[in-house]
Amino acid sequence: MNDDYYDLLGVSREASTEEIKKAYRKLARTLHPDVNPDPEAAEKFKRVSQAYETLSNADKRRQYDMGGGPGMGGFPGGGGGAGFDFNDIFDMFAGASGMRGRNQGPVPRQRRGGDVLRRVKIDLRDVVFGTEEKVSFRTAVLCERCSGSCCEPGTSPTRCTACNGSGHVQRVAQSLLGQMVTMAPCPTCDGHGDVIESPCSGCSGHGRTASERTVTVRIPSGVENGTRIQLRGEGETGEAGGPSGDLFVELSVSDHEMFERSGDDLVTTIAVPMTTAALGATILLETFDGSQDLDVRPGSQPGEEIVLKGLGVTPLRRERRGDIRVVLDVDVPTSLSDEERDLLQQLAALRGDETTRRSKGHGPFAKLRERLREF
Ligand SMILES: [Zn+2]
Ligand SMILES: [Zn+2]
Repeated sequence: MNDDYYDLLGVSREASTEEIKKAYRKLARTLHPDVNPDPEAAEKFKRVSQAYETLSNADKRRQYDMGGGPGMGGFPGGGGGAGFDFNDIFDMFAGASGMRGRNQGPVPRQRRGGDVLRRVKIDLRDVVFGTEEKVSFRTAVLCERCSGSCCEPGTSPTRCTACNGSGHVQRVAQSLLGQMVTMAPCPTCDGHGDVIESPCSGCSGHGRTASERTVTVRIPSGVENGTRIQLRGEGETGEAGGPSGDLFVELSVSDHEMFERSGDDLVTTIAVPMTTAALGATILLETFDGSQDLDVRPGSQPGEEIVLKGLGVTPLRRERRGDIRVVLDVDVPTSLSDEERDLLQQLAALRGDETTRRSKGHGPFAKLRERLREF
């Protein structure tokens, strides 16, 4: 019986009061007679409690550390000795048995419904202008038969006679610490305080049923891939008429064959023939606002950008739209007919390009040639 108190609790000699308390609570959870009927456990619990009683009290601990032994051992009978807070320790048993505190009333049947997450695919046009999507999913909906009351129409819950409507019953247990009175949820009514004698036949007394639900979701312009839209109360209906959960719609934006989004701008690359780049032309470009004239100025360079103002994405909560930016690529012919080659050679001779090429590319076209090679 001359155990070392620190060893008993499994703490170091420097352990703080908090650590000692924690260690004791942990041990009590497995050794307390309420949870462990084994007589050996009861014996160990007695010793552990003694150790805790001494080490949790600063004066007694000092005395013990100085070799004064366990001092006045024994158990305070039910009431708790000085500095030994039994209530604090045994609250955890109440917690473990699912009780919500001594002074709380019955547990309401109502429970909030779960949240629902659905993914929705939209395309770039929807990002530019915003859209509406219908989202369908299977979920819990309010029982139409009982409107969430859980009772057959015309009936209502009756007060539980086992707990007199309180939802709790007292449990008296004899323990080494004396008589312990604990409160437990009433098993007759599951702590609700009332009993449903005629559960609704439409929902088996849950107040909700499973059904397909369709929700229309307004998707504003300017959303991003992965944006989540929260629709309050559009998720699962709560139990017994409890509040509904939320619906989260996660957006997935599919790639567009023509445009890529860059901030609020839409970017695309178009290839024009070498002659068009040199001579200039007006090209029709299909945008989300219909066909638009795209002016390619004479002498356009590869990589040059043409901007169509205000035809991009309408940002979230802002008026001004982004732009369309068209990047020019220049198609250089890869095969030439004899006639074409003749013409190009004439042109080259006319411009003196031949000379430029021979002088190792320091002429005005050197840069262009470099860039053309990249395409
Ligand atoms: Zn019902
Ligand atoms: Zn009851």
